[in-house]
Amino acid sequence: MQMDFSLSDEERAIRDTARQFITREIMPLEREALRRERAHRPGLERSELVELQQKAKKFGFWGLSTPEQFGGMDLPAVLQSLIWTELGRTWVQFRFGGEADNILYYCDERQKKEYLLPTIDGDRISCFAITEPGAGSDAANIRFSARRDGDDWVLRGEKTFITNGHDADFVIVVAVTDRDKDVRNGGSTAFLVDRAMGWRSEFIPTMGEGGPASLIFEDVRVPSSNILGEIGQGFELGMEWIGKGRYLIPSLALGIAERALGMAIEYANTRETFGRPIGTNQAIQWMIADSEVELEATRWLVLRAAWTVDQDEDPRHMSSMAKLYGAGMVNRVVDRVMQIHGGMGYTRELPIERWYRQVRLMRIYEGTDEMQRLIIARDLLRGYTKIGGYLR
Ligand SMILES: Cc1cc2nc3c(=O)[nH]c(=O)nc-3n(C[C@H](O)[C@H](O)[C@H](O)COP(=O)(O)OP(=O)(O)OC[C@H]3O[C@@H](n4cnc5c(N)ncnc54)[C@H](O)[C@@H]3O)c2cc1C
Repeated sequence: MQMDFSLSDEERAIRDTARQFITREIMPLEREALRRERAHRPGLERSELVELQQKAKKFGFWGLSTPEQFGGMDLPAVLQSLIWTELGRTWVQFRFGGEADNILYYCDERQKKEYLLPTIDGDRISCFAITEPGAGSDAANIRFSARRDGDDWVLRGEKTFITNGHDADFVIVVAVTDRDKDVRNGGSTAFLVDRAMGWRSEFIPTMGEGGPASLIFEDVRVPSSNILGEIGQGFELGMEWIGKGRYLIPSLALGIAERALGMAIEYANTRETFGRPIGTNQAIQWMIADSEVELEATRWLVLRAAWTVDQDEDPRHMSSMAKLYGAGMVNRVVDRVMQIHGGMGYTRELPIERWYRQVRLMRIYEGTDEMQRLIIARDLLRGYTKIGGYLR
């Protein structure tokens, strides 16, 4: 049996360079980001984000997942995962630039010029919308409609909880185009719709920083040429969009958990009660130990899911396990880290309460815990996959 848990030289070099950039350029902004967020402002203004992304570009980081022909790095999923873990180490909401939604690569030549390329360049902001007030987990229950009218389509309905929905200048929206067909199977279509075509957004305050938006379409006219992919392919594209986050979200969670646990260990070694560091108490040690075990388990689930993507195999089962476990893990770790910090952990002086609010979302969006369990159990019950991280 040949097993090797180490990274290749190239993987390590790229991971370490990303870490260096984040440590030198992003982490020094953390205090200020917290201060701004406490004043209900974005931790990082868009202009600052763009400037940092350009700086990162000079460092060699541009378009982690973007194909080389579009100026990106086209990194394997394992490397993307490693870099997202590095991003998780800082609470500044920085992301490398040069990225576009994975399904924008279905654009035709004209659409590429109008939507894909400007999104990669950071000149346009996109959002993706499938969720509706009456259809979240049950995404196949969408009602948002697109009715053909000559060479146009008329879109009507509401989408909700759309990330970037209040800032985006266009949306990739999934609509029902044929009521006689199953939404999952030919009944829905994805459209590229500019805000200027007539939709509006309403910001939704949440417990996290920033917030998603509802998008309201009241008979918005969209030309046929703005269909993304094929008519009837909407749900399939939607699932492809969601699939990517299923290994990147737990990758980010891993970085958050690592940083938070590091803080807890430092605090446990220095904070004294009853004349000795709190870390000498078994109660504290157990919280640290349990966190480390879960963190390590997540690392291998996440890398296994990313590796499966790189093997061109169906990653859905692995990704669901990584997302389910990673989202739960980071919630438990941050909770313990807060407990170890006592009253200080609850204050806004430290980022812990911020993480606490941020990571709660990970159990809800891009497939709730329950949906991941449903997928994992269904795969086993129907015999689609073998039991337990089997080896080939
Ligand atoms: C901040 C934020 C950002 C988001 N960004 C986007 C975005 O960019 N684009 C987009 O399209 N959507 C987005 N979403 C929507 C998100 O994906 C949905 O909220 C999520 O899928 C859950 O759907 P729901 O809220 O309608 O909950 P529901 O589907 O109503 O579920 C409610 C509860 O019931 C459980 N449940 C439902 N069905 C079952 C079942 N069969 N068995 C067991 N339990 C079940 C769920 O797990 C959950 O606990 C975002 C949401 C949030 C909060």
